[in-house]
Amino acid sequence: MDRRMTNDAPSFDEADESKLEVGKPKDWAAGMPGVYHSMKPAIEQMGVGRTVKTMLALNQKGGFDCPSCAWPDPGHRSAFEFCENGAKAVTWEATPVVVSSGFWAQHPISDLLERSEYWLGMQGRLTEPVYKAAGDDHYRPISWDDAFSIIAKKLNSLASPHESAFYTSGRTSNEAAFAYQLFIRAFGTNNLPDCSNMCHESSGWAMGQTIGIGKATVSYDDFAKAELIIVMGQNPGTNHPRMLTALENAKRAGAEIVAINPLPEAGLQRYKNPQKPRGVIGRGTEIADQFMQIRSGGDMALLQAISKRVFAAEDKNPGTVLDHEFLEEYCHGLAELREHLALVDEAAVLEATGLTVDEIDELAARYLKADRVIITWAMGITQQKKGVATIKEIINLLLLRGNIGKPGAGASPIRGHSNVQGDRTMGIWEQMPPAFMDAIEKEFGFDPPREHGVDAVETIHQMLDGTIKVFVALGGNLVGAISDTQAAEAAMQNTDMTVQISTKLNRSHAVVGREALILPTRGRTEIDMQASGEQFVSVEDTVCAVHASWGKVKPVAPNSLSEVAIVSRLARAVLGDKVQVDWAGFEANYDLIREHISHVVDGCEDYNRKVRQEGGFVLPNGPRDSRTFTTPTGKAMLTVNALEYIERPVGTLILQTMRSHDQFNTTIYGHNDRYRGIKKGRHVVFVNPDDLAELGLADGQFVDVRGEYKDERERVLRGFRLVSYPTARGCAAAYYPEANVLVPLDHMAEGSKTPISKAVIVRLELSAVQEPSPASAAAMSAS
Ligand code: SF4
Repeated sequence: MDRRMTNDAPSFDEADESKLEVGKPKDWAAGMPGVYHSMKPAIEQMGVGRTVKTMLALNQKGGFDCPSCAWPDPGHRSAFEFCENGAKAVTWEATPVVVSSGFWAQHPISDLLERSEYWLGMQGRLTEPVYKAAGDDHYRPISWDDAFSIIAKKLNSLASPHESAFYTSGRTSNEAAFAYQLFIRAFGTNNLPDCSNMCHESSGWAMGQTIGIGKATVSYDDFAKAELIIVMGQNPGTNHPRMLTALENAKRAGAEIVAINPLPEAGLQRYKNPQKPRGVIGRGTEIADQFMQIRSGGDMALLQAISKRVFAAEDKNPGTVLDHEFLEEYCHGLAELREHLALVDEAAVLEATGLTVDEIDELAARYLKADRVIITWAMGITQQKKGVATIKEIINLLLLRGNIGKPGAGASPIRGHSNVQGDRTMGIWEQMPPAFMDAIEKEFGFDPPREHGVDAVETIHQMLDGTIKVFVALGGNLVGAISDTQAAEAAMQNTDMTVQISTKLNRSHAVVGREALILPTRGRTEIDMQASGEQFVSVEDTVCAVHASWGKVKPVAPNSLSEVAIVSRLARAVLGDKVQVDWAGFEANYDLIREHISHVVDGCEDYNRKVRQEGGFVLPNGPRDSRTFTTPTGKAMLTVNALEYIERPVGTLILQTMRSHDQFNTTIYGHNDRYRGIKKGRHVVFVNPDDLAELGLADGQFVDVRGEYKDERERVLRGFRLVSYPTARGCAAAYYPEANVLVPLDHMAEGSKTPISKAVIVRLELSAVQEPSPASAAAMSAS
């Protein structure tokens, strides 16, 4: 047997935080080190053959879609259409290391609880269904039939379908997502929390209300046509690295780029494209023409200040600055916005942003000079209390100069997980509109529930109070991803049953209900053979392009099932003949699911044909395609938003959670964050040197990071090393999921209810013991 086919080799040890090294942050990203850090783990874990096979199929025509972020593929592809993080995600999934049957006897759940996310993930791919009975401390292997029958019995014993919740991760394909939501609605509930609740929900809310669609209004090609790209609250170098190639191309075509962020991230400073000589032997490309080091939560004030300057420029040269024709024909609310912005207090803007008048004037001048502007954003904007209002201000600014619905211009939320947007398109939302439900009823002949279900935060509340008794997750790691780790874990442990459909272990498998099951599923990299032959799935990227994904390597676990197969069999076991849906047909041939998608999902007509076209197809988008805005007024809405920003009590800091470079969402690939100079550890808190001095603290000391929220729960991270770092004044940062413990469950963005993970008020206290905290998961999450 291949040595890698066992779970005892290679060895993936827990981090030893006492070995932590802190060096200088980098001012450039990627280059040859990026290639080295992509290929080294791939070859070590998968061997040369499997590495070559997977990497040459990654993001290629006829290959599979990257299981990591949702950045789009360019039309003209090179042989290497992936980045370091894409390579790490493929290695993580396609690894031949597997969890053996003996593992479960060796590691009781109480032992899994002591392990870190890294250790759990590195045990390898799950190979067989396992079940933990009530009162048992062990998962034990069972058959698929027994697993489905245990779940069906439990779900059918509930007094109401609303006593269950069904979570979805953004990895799930369109086909699996459509079948899953259909099953859940046929079962009788809209309790469909998803990972989008924790990331771009604010974007969906703000854009839906202002322009009628919660998706990007740009295509991939628009980036190369833009004259100005403003990147807000986002770190592309780590989170969607190939965006740097699009920014580099835009830059070389003459665009200016402005980066607005509390931290100076390497990728936005300089990019060394490893596929270009200038990136290998040269200096690479300077990305940001202007870096604005904004205080966390100050973006709304900045955007209002820029829009105010746009009005001022128009007053100075009437008829030349605003896009009057566009505003007249397509927009609503101009007079109200003008009146409101006139009252914006410049002193408040400076206080909120921490920026100077000159910096704000410079950005305004760039905006006024450019005819085609794209604004992109990510969690730095959405995970704020005023996240929805801030995105509405982005839309205001774009609309004033007609920057929506023309080439090279638009609004572009950058989605995190590869198919998080597609899952929503397929109906994974607790609030799908009546038209979608009508289409389900017409297509399948049953009336789906119409009352809204619960989102992720409400799911935690209802598990805590005992209303939700069964939790099923199609992928993901809810307790790792959501705020208030202690509450999330207590909620999970208060259920009757948890079911995780997963490729690998994570924290959510260790925090279980009275009964618990893990169902091993196949990954996107793997060949999916069903009764009618080899299957493909489809996904939608962050700019609404849908394309096919074909697995390329032999599944590592022959007893695992595809997500579609698991959903179809679960539906059959739970529903019996309650609804007339050909679940067995779904599993045998995914074309049947796509045929139903054609009839139910707007924009997906003739799906089977269109998705097979070279490069797939782009979903219709009213604002982008024809300046059609499906709001209540039929026009794009300029909105008035009362300015609010974070006022920090003396002696506190505003802490944001963030990923390291060796991490994708809650998946930890390693213990380094090389762009920020961190090696062999994660228990660090980054603080501006002037703040350290003001607080009487110093780099290298160990502190307890204490959340400042006044409720019954104490929220503390203990023994984290201080790292003197050029964060914005008053702002600190620490890695999640560790730092999620500091974010209270009800600390949510107004409207969208997205956890406010980018603005937690904390106090730093010198630790009693000046030593690193232990590495165990339990030590991180319990205070
Ligand atoms: S940019 Fe995103 S989608 Fe593209 S290869 Fe990298 S991680 Fe994968």
